[in-house]
Amino acid sequence: MRTRAAVLREPNTAWSVEEIELDPPEAGEVLVRTTAAGMCHSDEHIFDGTLPAPLPTVGGHEGAGVVTELGEGVTELAVGDQISVSFIPSCGRCRWCAAGQQYICDRGMHLMSPGMMPPGGFRHHDADGNDLTPMLKLGTFAEHMVLNVDSTIKIDPDIPPIPAALVSCGVTTGFGSVVNRAEITAGETVVVVGCGGLGSAAVQAARVAGARNIVGVDPVELKREAAGRFGATHTASSMEEAAEIVKSITNGVMADGVILTPSVMHGEMLAPAQFLARKGGRIVVTAIAPIEQMDVQLNLFELAMMNKEIRGTIFGSGSPRRDIPHLLGMYQAGQLQLDEMVTRTYTLDEVNQGYQDMRDGKNIRGAIVFD
Ligand SMILES: [Zn+2]
Ligand SMILES: [Zn+2]
Repeated sequence: MRTRAAVLREPNTAWSVEEIELDPPEAGEVLVRTTAAGMCHSDEHIFDGTLPAPLPTVGGHEGAGVVTELGEGVTELAVGDQISVSFIPSCGRCRWCAAGQQYICDRGMHLMSPGMMPPGGFRHHDADGNDLTPMLKLGTFAEHMVLNVDSTIKIDPDIPPIPAALVSCGVTTGFGSVVNRAEITAGETVVVVGCGGLGSAAVQAARVAGARNIVGVDPVELKREAAGRFGATHTASSMEEAAEIVKSITNGVMADGVILTPSVMHGEMLAPAQFLARKGGRIVVTAIAPIEQMDVQLNLFELAMMNKEIRGTIFGSGSPRRDIPHLLGMYQAGQLQLDEMVTRTYTLDEVNQGYQDMRDGKNIRGAIVFD
């Protein structure tokens, strides 16, 4: 079938919105009509080459839609089901899935390889017949998607498209960074460094978890104001400014958890984050760094003598099949503000504008809405 998609051929050019040819779903795959796509920063990392993905690619890895056709052997979904996509596949059978660690499912090793999830091949082709790789096996910047069922999560049909798309990556990652990885509990003090898509979910997670102090750090005023609406008790424009606030509100104890969710992670951010954490505190690195980043600023004496922990996380160390429906249930109960995270919606044709607005710091989150 013919559908329209945003395609990237070379880094730092532009997303090209064009008609592509989409093959029917094969065994273990489904065809989905896309209803909404989130504009996550990771697409920008592929756009600027920070994350070397196979090109040309159909962009987008946050999305929701409705199943319109089943490939051979698919029994867990039916035509008409609403799904959220999940860039983290969950096969349910590998050692990690069996242990409840779906975020490191073995199927994830294929995410940056060309084409579809194994057994592979290509379903997406441009007008010249060139094969296209759907980003992280998803490609949500398209009116239709062919997806492996391992990358789909069936959700409540009553959930509106935008929140259903946001939980694909950013919300679940930010939320889990606080609750799963930093293990924040009631009464603790949390610092969230970077209050965009990930950070605004992290702030809400800290609020829901009952944190006493939630300090949102961002150089952009719009994001600090939003952090306040999402539950931050204090805001600061830099980690240095935050350090003074945290010192005063904790009587010098400092923060139980520090969550690093800036647009791009850099090695020199670790030392100031380390000094924001109390002795025995948890520092969680969530944001993506340039893939070759090796050097970090860290005080190794203090790390050991103050018994601090630095923890990396992917997908907020969560399970898509548990956490996506779980967070949407909290949205339905009014405990998570997902609609409020979206500053502006765009059509597929406006995808370049949406990313320019992200670069200009005008958006907490942008989302593409399909007709
Ligand atoms: Zn698995
Ligand atoms: Zn993402």
